[in-house]
Amino acid sequence: MKYVSTRGQAPELDFEEAMLTGLARDGGLYLPKFIPEMSRADIAALEGAPYEEAAFRVMRPFIGDSFTDAELHGIIERAYAGFGHAARAPLVQLDSGHFLLELFHGPTLAFKDFAMQLIGQLFETALKRSGRRVCIVGATSGDTGSAAIEAFRGLDAVDVFILFPHGRVSEVQRRQMTTPVESNVHALALDGHFDDCQARVKDMFNDFAFRDAVALAGVNSINWARVLAQVVYYVTAAVSLGAPHRPVSFTVPTGNFGDVFAGYIAKRMGLPIDRLVVATNQNDILHRCLSGGAYHPSGVAPSISPSMDIQVSSNFERALYYAYGRDGGAVAQLMEELKEGGFTVSQGAREALRESFDSGRASESETGAAIRTTRARTGQLICPHTAVGVKVAEERRAPGTPMVTLATAHPAKFPDAVEEASGLRPPLPPRMADLYERPERVTAVANDLGALETLLKERTAH
Ligand SMILES: *Cc1c(COP(=O)(O)O)cnc(C)c1O
Repeated sequence: MKYVSTRGQAPELDFEEAMLTGLARDGGLYLPKFIPEMSRADIAALEGAPYEEAAFRVMRPFIGDSFTDAELHGIIERAYAGFGHAARAPLVQLDSGHFLLELFHGPTLAFKDFAMQLIGQLFETALKRSGRRVCIVGATSGDTGSAAIEAFRGLDAVDVFILFPHGRVSEVQRRQMTTPVESNVHALALDGHFDDCQARVKDMFNDFAFRDAVALAGVNSINWARVLAQVVYYVTAAVSLGAPHRPVSFTVPTGNFGDVFAGYIAKRMGLPIDRLVVATNQNDILHRCLSGGAYHPSGVAPSISPSMDIQVSSNFERALYYAYGRDGGAVAQLMEELKEGGFTVSQGAREALRESFDSGRASESETGAAIRTTRARTGQLICPHTAVGVKVAEERRAPGTPMVTLATAHPAKFPDAVEEASGLRPPLPPRMADLYERPERVTAVANDLGALETLLKERTAH
């Protein structure tokens, strides 16, 4: 399987190269040259299969000969062994026809563990084989960084640097990044917003001399291997609810568009997905773009669902690539316009997007209300991101088609917001109960590319 860039100007890579590279050299994002199809029989054969087996069958055709069957089986087994639930991604019913897909049973209590634990094992296997060493740099609004650190801590061939916006992540998120003791873990608190962190990471990747000198590798949500890992739970959830025999819809609390884009890939593979509903918080640029066509980032307004406080949604570029009929030149043009302040999606591309995606938004008060009413009606405590999804799903779901809302984080990861809304403080699962006692280790950094590059060079000069 070969991978091509959304901007059409970077070399084609195989799966392993695309995974190790992250961002393409033309600034684009990698996508498979074609999307493998699952037949109805392939989907039906997954009924009752363990999560790991489904993961193998869904991902195998995308991986080509980068990993052998035996390697891939081992990688998947190790990736999910540390999860706190045997089903890995269990479904819970909220109402007739409305389900929650619990994606928070991994080591950092958010869905990012599904991708990151897998990518840690993929990197380790690939790097061990070639004797290489890489420097992983990522930007996080909270959950990606903790998941990356958890996945890479203690590995020999990897240094991991995570930039997070100083003072804008929850205490649990911060502590999950700053308490690991391994010397290959570097938590960097940047003076700025998440979008600043993301921009500085992009700058480092676009500085080719620096990129090559420290062997930069990216594991942000633009990394194709992460998207691929997330395709799996759409398939397992849909099969549990009757696919391939009946369609299912999903509502996805969205920030960088990685998770919902994985659903789009599942649909393109042949999974009978009716609607993919993009749920945004008050930072609703995606909802506005999908409903009106205009994509003009303004400022970020911090919310109680901070992992969705995003104005530049990096994986949206992948959806645009398909919406523009795989025209890399058109995508490159839009991204140039974005640098100048924004763009408007063409009529044809907007119609293509609307064929798969619906959208909605939840204000801060609506998010709090969804936490409260879900608790009152079902006894479940949900995190604020999930609450955005539940609110939008209730508006958008159609009778007769099951709606699955992705529960993207454990409520204990955002205890203040949950307590504020519901009066109940969700406890951490027992395996992480001592998180608040562990000592923290963090480096404060300015929003300055030169200073960051110097720091990384010093820390990786072994
Ligand atoms: C990252 C994250 C999101 C947004 O996911 P994207 O793939 O960036 O759209 C939603 N909820 C939680 C809890 C997250 O950590």
